[in-house]
Amino acid sequence: EEIIAEAIVALAISLILIGWVSHWIVSPLKSLAEHMRSGESNSDLKDFTELNRSDEIGQLARAYQGLLIKLDNQLNILRTKSDTDPLTGLGSRHKYSRTATPFLKRHLAKGNYVGLIVCDVDNFKAFNDIYGHTEGDNALSQVGKKIKQLARDSDLAFRYGGEEFVIFCARPEAEQLANFTERLRREIEGMAITHQGNQPYGIVTISVGGAIAERQNMYQGFNTHQELQEAMFNVADKALYECKQSGRNKVIWSSKLDK
Ligand code: GH3
Ligand code: MG
Ligand code: MG
Repeated sequence: EEIIAEAIVALAISLILIGWVSHWIVSPLKSLAEHMRSGESNSDLKDFTELNRSDEIGQLARAYQGLLIKLDNQLNILRTKSDTDPLTGLGSRHKYSRTATPFLKRHLAKGNYVGLIVCDVDNFKAFNDIYGHTEGDNALSQVGKKIKQLARDSDLAFRYGGEEFVIFCARPEAEQLANFTERLRREIEGMAITHQGNQPYGIVTISVGGAIAERQNMYQGFNTHQELQEAMFNVADKALYECKQSGRNKVIWSSKLDK
């Protein structure tokens, strides 16, 4: 009887010890491992109480947090680099593909008119041929800076490709979009960067094709905002082509969105 009683006490003590060990060691390790597996960021680790422990578990949690902070910083640097065009400081094509459709969705929901504007520098191959590639880069950088200066902070402006820029802007009135693009064309002409290969102007000019979307478009055959955005790009590009065919240095807005 005595042995059985002692055995029961020993068992109870063992169970308590197992419970304590599992509470203090196994469960924090488990939740750390879970956090690692889930790939969550540092901010999700903030409430992790083990960070304040002075034992080895605390050290492990803090070391892991340090790694996550480093990783977050590196990711932010990479994101900023891949989102920015180094020559002009405008958004990159990569950023365009990530942000264009959400921008369209957000502003249509607010009841704004959204304009997608494709700008292309006129006869730019000739600019490089006459003045050299470095001067060409300088001219592109100036055009990019002018676009940045004239666009509102809420607009999205990108260097989409070599000498092609895309701007997404949202305004309460459609007329404001037309005013903006005409001002853009005029101000770039006003920079008066000599370009003898761009006749009859003799200076750097841009051609601009535009497409406008409004909330109703979402009920006129477009199933997703992505589809609508792609249609806008296509018709704006066609309008740009028309500019090129009819003398360049002008703005043409497409009147309708084809599916
Ligand atoms: P268009 O008026 O029809 O647009 O004629 P274009 O000569 O501008 O058009 P095209 O597409 O034939 O040529 C674009 C040229 O832009 C080709 C290339 O020489 C130049 N270009 C593209 N990217 C860069 C760049 O990053 N730097 C420089 N310097 N030139 C570039
Ligand atoms: Mg061009
Ligand atoms: Mg081009």
